[in-house]
Amino acid sequence: MNKCPVCQETLTIVEYEDQRARHCSRCGGYLVKQNRLELIRRLDRISKSRLKADAALFRGSTEQRLKCPQCFRLMRKQEIDLRVFRIHIDVCDRCSVVWLERGELALVQLAHEASTRFLDAKEFQRRMQELEASPERLAAFQERLASMPRRSEVMEYLFDDIEESIFETIFRNITGPRPYL
Ligand SMILES: [Zn+2]
Ligand SMILES: [Zn+2]
Repeated sequence: MNKCPVCQETLTIVEYEDQRARHCSRCGGYLVKQNRLELIRRLDRISKSRLKADAALFRGSTEQRLKCPQCFRLMRKQEIDLRVFRIHIDVCDRCSVVWLERGELALVQLAHEASTRFLDAKEFQRRMQELEASPERLAAFQERLASMPRRSEVMEYLFDDIEESIFETIFRNITGPRPYL
């Protein structure tokens, strides 16, 4: 029986995007095989509203190194850059498993989806024009970006359907690399 590396609750086997995963019902973390994480990232059977609800429960990545629930060795931290901020997932290379805190799995999926749409040049251009067409909206957007180091606001913006794909570019180009949570 694998125990949660954070709260020691017994992990239960669940299906996530039709992939087998182990889940902690207390702290909401997931243990998945490394190769399944890549699959889950691309799958989109879970509704976006549920992903957003899950992601909104993210309370930050753990800083301390965690022990692998399977071999009990210390896992290594792996940074995932979601552009808006970074998360740190825990990896055991020996067991090829990955531990994700509450909300991290959903964030990884949402970020993948946003970056896929971001690659759609036409859609991107359309959104940029939409924003540039309204100086007030652009100014308000920039102002808000400049003053949003708080996680809840980052989340709110990240998940705004209209702006999420332009968010990352504007963030990079206009405000520079802040706020990492
Ligand atoms: Zn737990
Ligand atoms: Zn291990």
